This record gives sequence, C-alpha cells and structure tokens, in this order.
Amino acid sequence: MNLALQQVSKLQNLDMRILELKREVAQLPKQIAEIEKQLDAHAKKLDAEKAMLAANQRERKQKELDIQTAQQKISKLKDQMLQAKNNEQYRAFQHEIDYAQNEIGSAETRILELMEESEPLDKNVKQAEVALAAERKQVEAQKQQAKTQTAADEKEISDRAGEMRQLLTEMPAGLKQTCERIRKKHNSPHVLAEVVDGRCTACRIALRPQHYQDLKVREDVFFCESCGRILYYNPPTQVAMS
Ligand SMILES: [Zn+2]
Repeated sequence: MNLALQQVSKLQNLDMRILELKREVAQLPKQIAEIEKQLDAHAKKLDAEKAMLAANQRERKQKELDIQTAQQKISKLKDQMLQAKNNEQYRAFQHEIDYAQNEIGSAETRILELMEESEPLDKNVKQAEVALAAERKQVEAQKQQAKTQTAADEKEISDRAGEMRQLLTEMPAGLKQTCERIRKKHNSPHVLAEVVDGRCTACRIALRPQHYQDLKVREDVFFCESCGRILYYNPPTQVAMS
C-alpha cells in the first residue's frame, strides 16, 4: 500500500474512532436517565404499597377503638339496665346492647380481614425496601462508571484529534481536500473502500475491467467511479490504535 493510502487509512480509522467515542459520550447520559427512571418507578411503587399498608393499619386501629367504645357503651347500658323501671325499658336497653355487640362482631371480622391483607403487604414492602436499596446502590455504581468512562472517552477523543491534526499536516493538501470532499458527500468518515472481486465494497458497483486492471497494477490513488471513495486493492495494514 502506498503512502497516500496509508495516510487515508489512518485518517479514516482516527475519524471513525473519534465518531464512535462521541456517540458513546452522547449515549451514556441517556442510559443513566433510563436506569434512574426505572429506579424512580420502583420507588413510587414502594411508596404506594407503604401507603396501602399504612391505610390498613389506620383502619385496624380505628376498628379497635370502635370495639372499645362499644364495650364501654355496653357496660354503661348494663348499669342502666339494673335500674330499668319496666320490661319495656329493659328490652330497649337489651336491644341497644345487642346492637353494640353486633358492632363489635363486625369490627372483629374486619380486623381479621385487615390482618390477613396486611401480611402479604408487609412482606412485599420489606422485600421491596431491600430490593430498592440494592438498586439505588447499583444505579450509583453505574453513574460513577459512566462518569469514569466519559472522562476516558473525552481524553481519548482529544488524543485522537491531536493525532489527526498531526497526520493532516503530513498529508498533501490535495489528498486532504479529497478526503474532506468524500467525507462530506457521504456524511461519513468512511472514505476508503476495498475492491473485492472487481466490486467496490462500499457501493457494491462493479469496476470497469480496465479501471480494475489499472488499480491492481498502478500505484496511483484510484476513485470509485460510482461512489467516489478512494479504492484500494490489497487490504490495508491495520493501524494500531493503542
Ligand atoms: Zn463505490
């Protein structure tokens, strides 16, 4: 591979690497936003379950108070009953006592229901609290990792850009402009295309036989007559990126 092709290949590799790094830098905050959104949804779900549990406990306390009130009422009614002046009064007190006892019965039934409901709810809340704490830790770790990665990426972008500037100073002005023109045309750093089986691998168009023959034997810079990219016949040696 001649020097021009080597330079173009190196330029393309640097350009592609910088683009890849920039994409990663742009992508990382989106990933973080996504996992934070999930964490937020899980926290909200836990809050809702806690609110349900609290409502359950509040109702249970209220039912217990209702029972106490009814019991006090019954004991008061029983005292009053002793002073009943006739059967009619006695029956009226008895009726009120029965009513209060009924209230106690239904409050007790409801308390049992609430206890049954609260058991899985309580278990869920406890499990979700543990899971959420673990998730929070995980998200923090990922955020830290993204920060480190971004810093490393930005450092590499700056290094590669420096290498690119250096390379551009070494390249002939005409070749530099050609690369820039191809890059602009395709809006891609992919300015170099290998020819395999007589076809440009970038646009898949077959080369004219004479063009193909010339490419194989001459040391010039050849262009694809279809897509305009710089062609090479032998695979270029990989440019070390370390
Ligand atoms: Zn082509």
